[in-house]
Amino acid sequence: MKAYMDYGASRPVDPAVLDAMMPYFCDSHGNPSSFHSHGFEALKAINIAREQVTALVGAEASEIVFTSCATESNNLAIAGATIRYRKRGKRVVISEIEHISVINIGKELSRQGFEIVMAPVDETGIVDVDKLGELVNDETVLVSIMAANGEIGTIQPIKEAAEIAHSHEAIFHTDATAAAGQIPLEAATMGFDLMTLSSNDLYGPKGVGALYLRKGLRLKPHMIGGGQEGGLRSGSENVPGIVGMGKAADLMIRRMEAEGERLTGLRDRLIRGVLDVVPESYLNGHPTKRLPNNANIRFSYVEGEALIISLDQLGIQLSSGSACVAKTLEPSHVLRALGLKHEEAHGSLVFTLGKDNRGDDVDYVVRGIPDVVSKLRAMSPLTPPELR
Ligand code: PMP
Repeated sequence: MKAYMDYGASRPVDPAVLDAMMPYFCDSHGNPSSFHSHGFEALKAINIAREQVTALVGAEASEIVFTSCATESNNLAIAGATIRYRKRGKRVVISEIEHISVINIGKELSRQGFEIVMAPVDETGIVDVDKLGELVNDETVLVSIMAANGEIGTIQPIKEAAEIAHSHEAIFHTDATAAAGQIPLEAATMGFDLMTLSSNDLYGPKGVGALYLRKGLRLKPHMIGGGQEGGLRSGSENVPGIVGMGKAADLMIRRMEAEGERLTGLRDRLIRGVLDVVPESYLNGHPTKRLPNNANIRFSYVEGEALIISLDQLGIQLSSGSACVAKTLEPSHVLRALGLKHEEAHGSLVFTLGKDNRGDDVDYVVRGIPDVVSKLRAMSPLTPPELR
């Protein structure tokens, strides 16, 4: 038996997405900038994809810029807007639990003279809106709060955060990489100026992302060249990838509601199952304001990495934190922001469910975990006698 529960790190491309992409590798390989029928075909394909992504996030086609990944969209949005509008002020407010790409863009901006302020989260991982209100002032050029955190699953009060930003005429960016396709997002009505999206999180191919950019807002581009994507992202377009992202967005619109309900059921069965059978295991994040596919569970007296290796031998794949920073072996900055101690943050597992998971997989994982945890606890000098 196998159970892949690491969809947050990587998703398979949906077969219908792959089918949609295939013609654009060989037969219709034209460059959208070319003035001949091959080029027009490619241009038409990316325009359809732009409409499809637009429909997922409640925007207009002219407001979508295709990029290479969510990290690039975050860079273009945050660095591009703060530098373009730097005369408005030097303060940039982000949450403590942003993705490492946002945190590191903040570090780079602080080297360029911006003042980066971190908005705290409560112990469930929700941004404290009152504190955010105190931190955003008239000197603030941009506020960036993620729509949902991919590691602990918490869904953030982004509509309120956008209102706070706008009450000080600051630009509001949301990183919706983990949230898009899982929960409804309406850029225009929720007050986003900028929104980051990733293709693979929608079961599209890797190597493609998108940025929603509200009409009228300008950015300083970081890719200078032939002026593709409205001059914001020069370089020949990744036509098959963009077509794939469009198709993936289109499928998500149709599936989101039913799939969200199904995954919520599986997620809660997993959480209840594990917490019931493993002593001293706890849910990280918010019990209900969380993504349908995310469970993050902490096990006292064990190392997350050791758990992952043991579970992999049972055919169970998951993460101990964000895959993007897993190589550093640093405890997750997200879990630390919830107030967890170093060792508590290290003993946590991230389960991200997806389209091929069924109740059987969940039950298999719930049956497998207690034994693995007990064996690792038996080897740890920190484990109290009653848990050995
Ligand atoms: N933002 C968030 C919230 C993420 O979870 C991730 C990772 N999937 C990223 C940004 C970065 O995505 P990528 O590595 O595809 O650029």
